[in-house]
Amino acid sequence: MAHEFQTISATSKALHAKEFSARELTQSYLDRIDSRDKEIQSYLDVFHTQALAAADAADKKLADGTAGTLTGMPLGIKDIIMIEGETCTAGSKILEGYQATYDAHVISQLKHSGSVFLGKTSLDEFAMGSSNENTELKQARNPWDTTRVPGGSSGGSAAAVAADLCIAALGTDTGGSVRQPAAFCGVVGMKPTYGRVSRHGVMAMTSSLDQVGPLTRSVEDATLLFNTIAGHDTHDATTRVTNPSVDIQKLAQPIKGMKIGLPKEFFVEGMDPQIRKLVEDAADQLRALGAEVIEVSLSLTQYALAVYQLTATSEISSNMARYDGMRYGHSVEAERLIDVYRQSRAEGFGSEVKRRIMLGTFALSAGYHDQYYVQAQKVRTLIQKEYTDIFKKVDCLIGPTTPSVAFVHGEKFNDPLLMYLSDIYTVPANIGGICAISVPGGYAGGLPVGVQFMAGAFAEQTLFQVAHQYEQATTWHTMHPDL
Ligand code: GLN
Repeated sequence: MAHEFQTISATSKALHAKEFSARELTQSYLDRIDSRDKEIQSYLDVFHTQALAAADAADKKLADGTAGTLTGMPLGIKDIIMIEGETCTAGSKILEGYQATYDAHVISQLKHSGSVFLGKTSLDEFAMGSSNENTELKQARNPWDTTRVPGGSSGGSAAAVAADLCIAALGTDTGGSVRQPAAFCGVVGMKPTYGRVSRHGVMAMTSSLDQVGPLTRSVEDATLLFNTIAGHDTHDATTRVTNPSVDIQKLAQPIKGMKIGLPKEFFVEGMDPQIRKLVEDAADQLRALGAEVIEVSLSLTQYALAVYQLTATSEISSNMARYDGMRYGHSVEAERLIDVYRQSRAEGFGSEVKRRIMLGTFALSAGYHDQYYVQAQKVRTLIQKEYTDIFKKVDCLIGPTTPSVAFVHGEKFNDPLLMYLSDIYTVPANIGGICAISVPGGYAGGLPVGVQFMAGAFAEQTLFQVAHQYEQATTWHTMHPDL
């Protein structure tokens, strides 16, 4: 079956036109995973039997006329999102073999749409990382150059989409974990506004920042997945009640007359000149489409990474407390209860998770709490206000997704600070609580570069429209690695 590197929209048309069945489609993906994933290492678990059963159910829906656009679409799911009855490891040894007891809200929504789950994709442990190296389970590789990292933490999801080992995937984005790997692997990655998508059934990293987002081959596909997973859920009190649906028809509307801001703080010294050039080209492209691109200032951007580190580590130290060797996963037998906790955690967690638990515990400790955590929350409020103000002046912002292209495996592994810096352009959208998307924006030295668009809180309609218009005016999204 020669149906490779296709979008959801094109594949859905082909399924409805009976060019092939959902079973044939799923089988072709499973075959590709079996042959290609030995090198890419993007899947932690592949659901051969379950995927074919879901595909058969999709074929029934197609036959009886109840199928939608996502029916029969073979997806990869980041292994931090629970699927009932399947193992869910969060990339951690502490959860090796743990079986999810219920479906995450996003999974129930996708099941309802008739999509097919091919398996669970690799990630940095508990989504802490930018390279997929922070895990002892499987470290995915970049399909464009397997000596390089795919980015992280949703590295397996991005690599699987880029290598066509699924038609699209879900990831989670707390500080850039959907957009940064999407940029490194040359695919689309979108972070919804905080409060758009339920996290029920998604293992928590930083509860005040975590969002689930799609990784896809086109902006339209990202919109389709977004529309399916977004919306109110009584199990997640942060989700907004209003209808989140983005009108797909409106993606085709021209952006003529729109105002797009180019934040000068995003063009820092030390940034890869080729990436700078490609972002400037993208701005020119928007001008050619009739938008007005103006330089703007987001003066608090320089504090976003520090605010992120304090907020993330603090919440991580609290969220990781539940992995105590008693309730879930890895457990070491010991005489005293305290030793069960200590030894299970010492053996189960990797070094990055331990580092963050310690940093967060320190930031929250008596005497330091006000200086670190509380101070960070104050600056966070100011950053959010800066975004609210800027989106009164512009419809959308444009900038780079990452300061460099995908780096070589091992290059930054022993330098956590350097690793944290790779999130410099993605973290602000999480701290600001707004929505953002990374779209393929060209190549530097044969490696993909992402262009990032950001729009205001709950302004996904505008975000998808601008990103789609840019994408359709370029050819970057049609390219794929030689495998
Ligand atoms: N790379 C960032 C970190 O390590 C972001 C992680 C994420 O978004 N889950 O914290």
